[in-house]
Amino acid sequence: MIQPHSPLRLRIDSSALVSNWRWLARMSGSAACGAAVKADAYGIGARQAVRHLVEEGCRDFFVATWAEAEQVLPHVGEASLSVLHGVAEEDVAHAAASRARPVLNTPLQVKRWRELGQGRPCDVMVDTGMNRLGLSVADLAEGLVDGLPIDTLYSHLASADEDSPMNARQRAAFLAAAATVPARRLSLANSAGICLGADYAFDLTRPGLALYGGIPRREGEGHVRQVMRAEAQIVQRRRIGPGDTVGYNATFTSDRDMELAILNVGYADGYLRGFSNRGRARLASGFGPVIGRVSMDLTAISVDAAPDLAEGDWVELDFDLPSAAAQSGLSQYELLTTLGARYQRVWS
Ligand SMILES: *Cc1c(COP(=O)(O)O)cnc(C)c1O
Repeated sequence: MIQPHSPLRLRIDSSALVSNWRWLARMSGSAACGAAVKADAYGIGARQAVRHLVEEGCRDFFVATWAEAEQVLPHVGEASLSVLHGVAEEDVAHAAASRARPVLNTPLQVKRWRELGQGRPCDVMVDTGMNRLGLSVADLAEGLVDGLPIDTLYSHLASADEDSPMNARQRAAFLAAAATVPARRLSLANSAGICLGADYAFDLTRPGLALYGGIPRREGEGHVRQVMRAEAQIVQRRRIGPGDTVGYNATFTSDRDMELAILNVGYADGYLRGFSNRGRARLASGFGPVIGRVSMDLTAISVDAAPDLAEGDWVELDFDLPSAAAQSGLSQYELLTTLGARYQRVWS
């Protein structure tokens, strides 16, 4: 059977992924460096990402849910896989039979794992001020997890991407909590936390964003490489004149003759409407700005600077994460994790 053609693709550079992991591992000092591969490795494809990272020596992976764990587990080999959201009632049967470890977040989850874990190791999350997931420092001090075989005790930093006094406060609270829990390892830092330096690395780090080309703090500039490039084919090329408008609601009015290319990509592909009149494509000479509103499946760019680009040619969007975030008003995380299913993901 002849496969249908996909007019939009993500080019994913495995050497950049691996290089980013190596840099994060170096920055983690003596701590082991893991990898957060939840949300399909932030949209680039968890199966492939895990395969490359395992080959490079990564031995600790993190997902959010058991459905994600099931997809990733066959590819982690001997490495460990932790499920960050723990065990809900509906997860019990699956978790009991899985090799992945839950990260226990609530007293109810602790109780569940005592019954179903049968002495298998688990991880524990302690909340140190983010007030998202985790047991309280007081829960731990009162012995809530006593007797559980705990592999890793985690906490999570709320403001590691800023020079906030909260970082040191959370670190101190984490150390105090750790003193009351006999965990084999301690883990606090995400990508931004790794950039805060060796004091934050403990035994295991948990980068996500920076693996995939996001730059969480200035320390990553010049070290973190772009992993993912988005390309779309030109469906139509057209010429407009002074007074002509472009796209839904005619948010762009031309004041001159202009050449446009209509690209096979839109907000259904995660190229969200924040890029309207603000995003840009990379052309052989400079950039082609987005003209008018991004629509569901299509986006117009100016190709005055590229007289030879024709219907059917491929164009790369400027998806360098820090600059795309500035263009669109989205976070680097949102840019990655909203990439749609219509892209063909091409690994090299
Ligand atoms: C997603 C996540 C990470 C990875 O964070 P990044 O900011 O993407 O590096 C680490 N730890 C926990 C608990 C997470 O939920």
